[in-house]
Amino acid sequence: MTLTPPPLKNDCFALPPGTHWTPVDEALAELQARLHAVTGMETVSLDAALDRVLAEDVVAARSNPPQPNTAVDGYGLRHADIVEGPQVLPLVDGRSAAGAPFDGVLPAGHAVRVLTGATLPEGVDTVILQEDVTTNGAEIAFHGPLKNGANTRKAGEDVAAGDVILSMGRVLTPADLALLSATGTAEVQVRKRLRVAVVSTGDELAEPGSVARADQIYDANRPMLCAMIRRFGFEAVDMGRAPDDRAKLSAFLDGAAARADVILTSGGASAGDEDHLSALLNETGSMTLWRIAIKPGRPLALGLWQGTPVFGLPGNPVAAMVCTLVFARPAMGLLAGQGWQEPMRLLLPAAFSKNKKPGRREYLRARLVDGAVEVFQSEGSGRISGLSWATGLVELPDEAAVIAPGTPVTFIPYEGFGL
Ligand code: AMP
Ligand code: MG
Repeated sequence: MTLTPPPLKNDCFALPPGTHWTPVDEALAELQARLHAVTGMETVSLDAALDRVLAEDVVAARSNPPQPNTAVDGYGLRHADIVEGPQVLPLVDGRSAAGAPFDGVLPAGHAVRVLTGATLPEGVDTVILQEDVTTNGAEIAFHGPLKNGANTRKAGEDVAAGDVILSMGRVLTPADLALLSATGTAEVQVRKRLRVAVVSTGDELAEPGSVARADQIYDANRPMLCAMIRRFGFEAVDMGRAPDDRAKLSAFLDGAAARADVILTSGGASAGDEDHLSALLNETGSMTLWRIAIKPGRPLALGLWQGTPVFGLPGNPVAAMVCTLVFARPAMGLLAGQGWQEPMRLLLPAAFSKNKKPGRREYLRARLVDGAVEVFQSEGSGRISGLSWATGLVELPDEAAVIAPGTPVTFIPYEGFGL
């Protein structure tokens, strides 16, 4: 009997009928429901707190501002003394400057020199801008009326002592550090950094810097994944390259589980002869092969190795990156104690045309030109140059979509994924 190749079908690239492909949103909802923070806590000072995850709600120790003060350089006075039209007030001796308050009470019918940030002397409720007066050093002349409280800041108008200023799970920004410091907090309880082990798999992989055999390729995923993890604010644990050998890969996973809170592998996640990651996770009984309706990227092998979650990413670098951004990042965010992080999506006009079929979500490498979104010339999942060319991804809906220049599309800049 002669062996003949199976006939190609028209729909050979369509999704297999009768198979359930999990929609992206369903897969994400599963992750969101099942994962929780696994990291411990530690106390750090503000200078070590940037990008760390708050492990507690923070309450303002002090109000900001703590006392009423002046927002401008000018003259403090009593609003009740002011009439409409031109008028003159005598100046008292002394002044109130930031950090050097006026000592005493402003007598009725007088004004006092005040400088930005200075505590309002007792009796002062309103400040006139220095540009709005003329002065001979002993008096000021100006026009009324003035608004009661003009150019002043009330005590606690920004933050009142006791207010919750930042909530548990917050990833601290530079502005948050300003807020913490301003309200009198010098140390915060944060989550320990999530440790993420990265393993590449495949006999074809060589290390950059080494001489590669003609049939080898240099490992693209590991440097990319380690860098992404650092951008997410986690600690990357580079485990190196595992060969396509079940026992050896198993030893790599042992090492990764001992050193990290979560393991990201790439390659070997499908159901083929050399897909050892899938096979190993299958043996643990904890494995699910997620057949997700996404392009690029399926399948994703998820499981536990000695209790440590494993994300078995596809080997193709484009799929590995997309799956990391779409699935692994929010999942790791939960493990790190951040809560669920949605990417920042922008609706922008397309600068391309595409007829998208229904049944799966698609991510295209994209970038902005003159406020419109252009996509990379090829959707090939091995095209690493396109990942580098792009500044983000276009997210096309699960349903069918006809896109022409000008059609609004969802663009997620890499920064919108936390990169
Ligand atoms: P796999 O998922 O192991 O079947 O790999 C799918 C494709 O991705 C193959 O062409 C692999 O050679 C390629 N690939 C796997 N891992 C890497 C990697 N770390 N860097 C670059 N390409 C890879
Ligand atoms: Mg492989």
